[in-house]
Amino acid sequence: MNPKHPGVVAVILILVILTIPLAPIPDYWISLLNNIGLFSLVAVGLVLLTGVGGMTSFGQAAFVGFGAYTTAVLSTTYGISPWLTLPIALVLTAAAALAIGSITVRLSGHYLPLGTMAWGLAFFYLFGNLEFLGAHDGINGIPPLRIGHHDLFDGRAFFPVVWLVVLAAMFLTTNLLHTRLGRAIRALRSGTIANEAFGIDTAQVKLIVFVYAAVLAGLSGWLYAHLQRSINPTAFGINIGIEYLLMAVVGGAGHVFGAVLGAGIVTILKDQLQDILPKLIGGQGSYETIVFGFMLVVILQSARNGLWPLIINAFPAGPEKLPVPSDDSLAQRAMPKSGAVPVLDVRGICKSFGGLVAVNDVTFLVGAKEIVGLIGPNGAGKSTTFNLVTGLLRATGGEVLFRGSRIDAMPARDIAALGIARTFQHVELAPEMSVLENVAIGAHIRGSAGLLAGMLRLDRAEEKCLLGEAARQLQRVGLGEYMHRPAGSLALGQLRILEIARALALDPALLLLDEPAAGLRHLEKRELAALLNKLRAEGMSILLVEHDVEFVMGLTDHLVVLDFGKLIAKGVPAEIRKNPIVLEAYLGGVV
Ligand code: ADP
Ligand code: MG
Repeated sequence: MNPKHPGVVAVILILVILTIPLAPIPDYWISLLNNIGLFSLVAVGLVLLTGVGGMTSFGQAAFVGFGAYTTAVLSTTYGISPWLTLPIALVLTAAAALAIGSITVRLSGHYLPLGTMAWGLAFFYLFGNLEFLGAHDGINGIPPLRIGHHDLFDGRAFFPVVWLVVLAAMFLTTNLLHTRLGRAIRALRSGTIANEAFGIDTAQVKLIVFVYAAVLAGLSGWLYAHLQRSINPTAFGINIGIEYLLMAVVGGAGHVFGAVLGAGIVTILKDQLQDILPKLIGGQGSYETIVFGFMLVVILQSARNGLWPLIINAFPAGPEKLPVPSDDSLAQRAMPKSGAVPVLDVRGICKSFGGLVAVNDVTFLVGAKEIVGLIGPNGAGKSTTFNLVTGLLRATGGEVLFRGSRIDAMPARDIAALGIARTFQHVELAPEMSVLENVAIGAHIRGSAGLLAGMLRLDRAEEKCLLGEAARQLQRVGLGEYMHRPAGSLALGQLRILEIARALALDPALLLLDEPAAGLRHLEKRELAALLNKLRAEGMSILLVEHDVEFVMGLTDHLVVLDFGKLIAKGVPAEIRKNPIVLEAYLGGVV
């Protein structure tokens, strides 16, 4: 949601938060609202982690426990003021999250949620067994928060503290999502290949999100300890972890405001169910857990995006307008000079997949301002060669040099930073992000703003440059009018062109295009050829995989022909057209 006047909305919300405790609302509801606020903080973190970043965690309650126990121990045993324990609690939670996250976030698929369950359970039992944490009885007599000379003894006095913190967390998190780092976070869900190829350290981005979510949970725990003034392990168990996840999912796993909605619904529902169900069923038991489990399954089956999207769709807003200047203020790379060292020098590279040799001793050069065609039948090893050059695969033999330096042992993101950009045969885009934002991913390494700058909106000038560059490249390839559409709404041919715009946004010296003309109509192919000619004239070198023989022959300076992983011919287009081995293997008498 993007309100027209966020400042006005914020002032109104602050005034509402400050007046609610003065209103004749029963204590019971104030206390319920405080709980919703505390849960919202955890759920906001989970929205970022699970909804946006795609990492499901059942273990957030343990981080709430870290925050709560840290302040409980320090303020009772050592008598330290709660305001001093706050930074300590947050730093400790962050350190724990860093340690746990660096092992956990690397897990893929179902192993990640299973991993979070494992440490969620482990910490629950740890809290319950350590003597200095009060074991199962927990810790009592935690001092209240004190502002000036006022002790915040009751829920009513505590209310503004909780909700101002929630408001701040929502504000900072929403900011974060609309930044350079935010785009990298949002692109995590659609896979890591393209992100790494554009210089994003996906493991680091995942870890940042993991620690961010944990710190919000730790903050919630710190507040909880001083509101309840007594804690025990039951509040930090795995079942509570499941409830947190339910809150994020019910509200809308990808929406910050959905976190508060979800926390509200689940908290009120739990409160009511705990009243009603024992009367209906009889006996004592946490029957609400059954209802919650059922809800989770139904929502995941039928309303994956939760309730928040249903609410905002009921109030259709105009298309989102992003700041798009036309000038280009980012620094540009000096292009390689003709006649100097080759831009790309591939020397005898090999790649085997088990018994299959996909690329077998392939050697070729790409000079400055050259378009080189890499052709051959399906399965010849063309895409694998691209993956070897861009570092997405490690060669089993041979060397790759870019502008005279070895790059074959470098990670993909470092190769990208040197100025090699690519497109993918099977498009690798984030379909839910806008066309403009997808292209801005290409410019990621040309910016530097990080977490804090993004949260505090100190990155606006750089953001303007990055989005401006993305817009410029989109206009250049003729997709300017689709800028604000979700990428997933474009046709396949347009997506291929979109990938070219993203590659250009990196300001590459070498561009690798994997079947860019597949799915394009005749006129679109002519436009693409004109664009590639123009890029060459501006100094770019291009390696092109393409099956359309006329397109390739008309455009390229040299051709490299592969068959079953082996190089079978090299030469200028006129020679290749007549080469009997090539005619036999690939062109099959077409030319
Ligand atoms: P091309 O792009 O020329 O059509 P590829 O480079 O995609 O060919 O594939 C070359 C060969 O390597 C094919 O036989 C393909 O099945 C195999 N191959 C490609 N990638 C992998 C992989 N990740 N694992 C196993 N085999 C692969
Ligand atoms: Mg291929």
